[in-house]
Amino acid sequence: MIDIQAINERTIGEHDIHVHAFVKKRKERLCPHCQSTKIEVYMDVIRFILDTPIDGKRRFILLMAKRYKCARCFKTFDERCDDLYPGHGMTRRMAEWIDRQRVNGMSMYRMAKETGMDEGFFRSYFKRKAAQNEKQANEG
Ligand SMILES: [Zn+2]
Repeated sequence: MIDIQAINERTIGEHDIHVHAFVKKRKERLCPHCQSTKIEVYMDVIRFILDTPIDGKRRFILLMAKRYKCARCFKTFDERCDDLYPGHGMTRRMAEWIDRQRVNGMSMYRMAKETGMDEGFFRSYFKRKAAQNEKQANEG
């Protein structure tokens, strides 16, 4: 990954791997809501990000990140990270993993078993993806 720097990796119980990590390059310059440049760090947060399973274990990234606050519109927002797939709390490579399993004919039930997520997680992913594809088709 290009933007996430792992610090250490721990096996938790039998099924989970937790990777502690941080975002390498800070990119925040503008408020995404009003485009103001008057933004400041609001708090440190740990984001729980689903990553690709490995050796039959599900893997989460505990990402130490900044939350910003805009001094003009007072809204808060999370720092950007190029390795994250927007809106689903997972990495881009996890989204690619899901797409690949889908192409190979894996059911959502099976994906849920492999990753420890529930089927609803995958349903909402595919639903949103279908909506995006439709939008692109209409625009193109
Ligand atoms: Zn703002």
